[in-house]
Amino acid sequence: MKWIDLRSDTVTQPTPAMREVMAQAEVGDDVFEEDPTVNRLEAMAAELLGKEKALFVVSGTMANLVSLLTHCGRGNEIIMGDQAHIFLYEQAGCAALGGLQARTVKNQADGSMDLGAIEAAVRADNVHFPRTGLIALENTHNRCNGSPLNVDYVQAVSKIARHYKLKLHMDGARIFNAAAALGVPAKDLAGPADSVSFCLSKGLAAPVGSLVCGSHEFIAQARRNRKLVGGGMRQAGILAAAGIIALTEMVERLAEDHVHARQLAQGIAHIEGLKIDLGSVKTNIVYFEVANSRIGANEFSRLAAAQGIRVMPLGPRQLRAVTHYHISDADISRTLNSFQAILHHNKAV
Ligand SMILES: *Cc1c(COP(=O)(O)O)cnc(C)c1O
Repeated sequence: MKWIDLRSDTVTQPTPAMREVMAQAEVGDDVFEEDPTVNRLEAMAAELLGKEKALFVVSGTMANLVSLLTHCGRGNEIIMGDQAHIFLYEQAGCAALGGLQARTVKNQADGSMDLGAIEAAVRADNVHFPRTGLIALENTHNRCNGSPLNVDYVQAVSKIARHYKLKLHMDGARIFNAAAALGVPAKDLAGPADSVSFCLSKGLAAPVGSLVCGSHEFIAQARRNRKLVGGGMRQAGILAAAGIIALTEMVERLAEDHVHARQLAQGIAHIEGLKIDLGSVKTNIVYFEVANSRIGANEFSRLAAAQGIRVMPLGPRQLRAVTHYHISDADISRTLNSFQAILHHNKAV
């Protein structure tokens, strides 16, 4: 029986087309900027995001770290959401390695931060205070229901950033999901930001890699910082080749994942013992809860795994399911049938 792995879209395997181009990729030493395939991927990424230049890095975490190191100096404060991936899941790399302090602002359920709250978090010029250096947005917002931030909102935040002479970084790990959900080009979402990072290794199914995009000047310094954190790769064209397929063949199909997420969410809404906010599901990430049951999230995920379905427990009652390239209509039906059976056998007494 096929495993249905809904823990994350990072579990996607490279496509046959990716494996083929990887085997044949023309390569060179990328630290010397001589890998033609990396150079081609970076040019494509910059073009797609509407920026002057791009830089290929190992991971989304490195993309964010390198961006923050490049924009800010030691002792600077960075305004970010309290549910931001940078804040929750990146080992405080910006503090540990960059001497940067996170100033969190509450994230709303749609991944945004209140504009007034952002503005209130900007430090005044006072000898007691750190200097605010940057505002970081996340699009789509992983921990906030995979919600996309729209162009108007990003522009509004950018206006605050410009007013206070701050940089704006967008953690766009899933920016193409946001673009698909909103029906706008990714470059419109990235436009107001000074830098944007995105992942090739999530819904786009490449095995490894992320890109950072920004101005010529920004990318030149980001390249130095990539080397600083040990991220200078050599014949990385092997990986970049898969990234080119990700950008040319895998972006358009992301909307299918959103349809599947919607199907899954609607099915969950009809299962007694599961709870979901249907309106929150806008892209490929589905958060739901076990309620009115004898079991919690850990036990639920264990029972689902016994039926060949992997979901991620994220709290005593909360679980996450993420749709992706390897998840079909039939997989959604099988998943819902299994969930139904698990809850049926574990009714609250
Ligand atoms: C996955 C993710 C990252 C980090 O990417 P890795 O490649 O896993 O390091 C950063 N930001 C967001 C919003 C993510 O979902």
